[in-house]
Amino acid sequence: MAPEALARVSPGSAVPRAAITFDVEDWYHPELARPHVAAGETRSVVREGVAVILDLLRRRALRATFFVLGEVAERFPDLVRAIAADGHEIACHGMTHRPLWALDRESFRRELRDSRAARRAALGHEEAVGFRAPTFSLDPSTAWALEVLREEGFLYDSSVFPMRVRLYGVAGAPLGIYRPAAGNLARHDPRGTLVEFPVAVGALGPLRLPVGGGFYLRALPSWLLHRTLDRIARERPLSLYLHPWECAPHLPRVRLAPVDGLITYFGLDSVLPKLDRLLGRYSFDTMRGILERSGHLAPAKES
Ligand SMILES: [Zn+2]
Repeated sequence: MAPEALARVSPGSAVPRAAITFDVEDWYHPELARPHVAAGETRSVVREGVAVILDLLRRRALRATFFVLGEVAERFPDLVRAIAADGHEIACHGMTHRPLWALDRESFRRELRDSRAARRAALGHEEAVGFRAPTFSLDPSTAWALEVLREEGFLYDSSVFPMRVRLYGVAGAPLGIYRPAAGNLARHDPRGTLVEFPVAVGALGPLRLPVGGGFYLRALPSWLLHRTLDRIARERPLSLYLHPWECAPHLPRVRLAPVDGLITYFGLDSVLPKLDRLLGRYSFDTMRGILERSGHLAPAKES
């Protein structure tokens, strides 16, 4: 990276250039693993994974956004309190991790309300304004969810993966922060009721390269990851994501089809060193902080 580019993304910039986000779920919640998990399975790694993440963030004095699943908040309320106590943003990842494809308006509304109740029981208050759909399941077939989010008091969403990949994605969606038009997720409408903070995707002409987190972060070599993310960060705020189960020292494994096994387990050893290098590379804030500082959301009355 050229020094002048580094200067533009260094701490002290007016608008931090990156949000690191964590979808706080357990190892048995992801869509690929869930059907293969034995009934009555009680092992959990979310606590260990979050502990490692909080430690990395604390050492660099960074704030992140945690999209917490309601089931996790219900089972481990102290974990949600520990995340909040470090000054991180608590946001919503639904209640049960059922994707939007499996829900309708009313069952989605119930997910949001149950999840809110779980966070409130853990924290004693509830002020989440951000949402991320399980399995990035917001796509043209589930765009109705944005209306429900707005009705339930959410101000921003971070569920759009702005390219189509095997499981999810919105082809042709804007790569930067935008307001999705009613009825067309891929089009910006300044009158749109919710702000969308899409996952980082690189662009080289018409080609798009998924780099924002999870499998992509594990699978791509660091030089390509950094080169692509640096280029994005020069143009727009980055949005990165990982899961505590990817960071946990002892991840239980289930037998998956080869491609699904690759997506779920490839490169887990590389996650923490790669994450730590990324944390030192950009200027980070919470998603809400970036949206407020860049004028996409009105500043909270109190913080
Ligand atoms: Zn998830």
